[in-house]
Amino acid sequence: MFRKILIANRGEIAIRVMRTARRMGIATVAVYSDADRNAQHVRMADQAVRIGAAPVGESYLLGQRIIAAARETGAEAIHPGYGFLSENPDFVEKVEASGLVFIGPSSKAIRAMGLKDAAKRLMERAGVPVVPGYHGDTQALVALAAKANEIGYPVLIKARAGGGGKGMRLVAHPDAFPDALAAAQREAKAAFGDERVLVEKYIETPRHIEVQVFGDNHGNAVHLFERDCSAQRRHQKVIEEAPAPGMDAATREAMTEAAVKAAKAISYSGAGTIEFIVDASEGLRPDRFWFMEMNTRLQVEHPVTEMITGVDLVEWQLRVAAGEPLPLSQDEITLSGHAVEARLYAEDATRDFLPATGTLHHLRFPEHVDGARLRVDAGVAEGDAVSPYYDPMVAKVIVHAATRGEALSGLAAALESTEVAGSTVNLGFLARLVRDDDFAAGHLETGLIARKQGALTAPAQPAPRHLAAAIAATSGVHLAPPEPDPFSAIAGYGHFGSLAHRRELQRGNEKLTAFVTAAPEGGLAIRLGEDEATAPIIVRRDEAARVACWPGHVTVFEGADGLTFQVPDPLELAGDMVGGDRLSAPMPGLVKLVRAAAKDAVKKGQPLLVLEAMKMEHTITAPHDGVIAEIATEGAQVNDGAMLVRFEEME
Ligand code: ADP
Repeated sequence: MFRKILIANRGEIAIRVMRTARRMGIATVAVYSDADRNAQHVRMADQAVRIGAAPVGESYLLGQRIIAAARETGAEAIHPGYGFLSENPDFVEKVEASGLVFIGPSSKAIRAMGLKDAAKRLMERAGVPVVPGYHGDTQALVALAAKANEIGYPVLIKARAGGGGKGMRLVAHPDAFPDALAAAQREAKAAFGDERVLVEKYIETPRHIEVQVFGDNHGNAVHLFERDCSAQRRHQKVIEEAPAPGMDAATREAMTEAAVKAAKAISYSGAGTIEFIVDASEGLRPDRFWFMEMNTRLQVEHPVTEMITGVDLVEWQLRVAAGEPLPLSQDEITLSGHAVEARLYAEDATRDFLPATGTLHHLRFPEHVDGARLRVDAGVAEGDAVSPYYDPMVAKVIVHAATRGEALSGLAAALESTEVAGSTVNLGFLARLVRDDDFAAGHLETGLIARKQGALTAPAQPAPRHLAAAIAATSGVHLAPPEPDPFSAIAGYGHFGSLAHRRELQRGNEKLTAFVTAAPEGGLAIRLGEDEATAPIIVRRDEAARVACWPGHVTVFEGADGLTFQVPDPLELAGDMVGGDRLSAPMPGLVKLVRAAAKDAVKKGQPLLVLEAMKMEHTITAPHDGVIAEIATEGAQVNDGAMLVRFEEME
């Protein structure tokens, strides 16, 4: 076995690989970009090497730099994780040429599966069912249109070099074919530098079911059952599970056999996934699935397979790469229970899943859930930033239980007790999806999320109880962490008497006023609004809501939703003053409105610009009288700490 390996990746997958390496007594080397200097994967590794600047093209995609780091540190092998260089055959060849081991398949196997058209032709020859379609060389419009007619509409045009759903067009009618073809080719050319496409039958009511395969260098290949990844948004996986709901013995037998055949056809070594598209219009049937593509790496969703089989797939990758045979034979691999994984992303589901950034000022995962096993694969810890440079995945939450129903309940419970503040995340969306009737009933198909998007992404609305909880949390003398329970913060605070304290919060530009008095049993009476006739809400000590106070804000958690209010601290609201002459953005956001210009003389308290962040509008006002030297541009997207306003030097 290797003594030391380098992990050419970041985030949760780098950490996941290190966990197994550590358990096996293998030392680990991390690589990092400038943006990741303090990232968790760097902290966890035994050694870490800087490979360049934040953009991936200047760091994580620099194969030679990574190989050099491995050689300098004496690592014997490189684990690529997923994404980045994991499916780049040229990189594999360079790794091997420099005397190192690539923990993954051969460059030849990657190449064979790299282009969708060639892979499909290869699979057809190997006797694996392939979606009816045209995978040939001809690219002329007339010829492809004729093929589309032969296949029968609707058809799907796909970039042969495609990935991530790019260069893909659904065509319902021959009239739309020419434009769709041109658009797919344009997009493919721009994204992959290869405009060639294939045309295939569009499967209606499709499900995405994939089979985990594993090969070694001794001619063995096995499968580790299937995963269902039909819960997709724009062809991107959202929730994955194993086994596939409704899978019967005959269909499983046919699919896993086809997958192993596919792996053997290319003498596959290491972890791989055969993706099938399934026509689920009449349930799962052994003759209604077709090869779509092979992913020649460890998948994001591999943990669900680990949960149902008890196999550590990274350990197998390491053993196979070190030349050992597969640890188990096909008969020894068994399936037990049901596992589900949800991908927790920093994105705003209410705004069509706009990627979000920001600092994770508060991040709590449950330790366990009732009646199920919980696993959280996270790439970040509280206080870390979600940077705009990389995939905004925060964590994968995985639950395993005896049945699908129990696994889904466990996952919903886990999501509903996860707390994130500081960045917008998709927790509420995930929890609503897991609790959706059709999803829960196993009526899966790739269009489910799009069909229900409105209901699944409806923003949580603040109710009086949320406001009361937020007011209670900020009523204490000291409300900043590390005191998460607002009530212990106010314990002993005896200044109330019968005097009502006026408190203010803001949500967006809406000012919220409340009057707080001590309630008889040690709680608080909170009257919302200026009207003295309004009955107060009593917040008792033992009914403490889940809240997080973070710089300038308070977030109230209810279920999987977090409702954030601004705490009007004059300094915070004015942005952060740096060096007295400039205001910087307190959080990442959009400069929505600019009300002043360079050379303007402004008065203290005068509104200068509106920053939209965390779904709210923040008015940034002048902290003092002065003359503006420089001000942000309207419409600009700014990062945490970016300069918003600079004042002229004061005499
Ligand atoms: P990419 O490599 O760009 O991700 P894939 O070929 O893996 O593209 O397909 C991505 C997704 O598109 C699938 O998971 C499935 O939801 C959908 N899809 C692909 N091929 C078909 C098809 N023939 N019919 C219906 N849906 C399809």
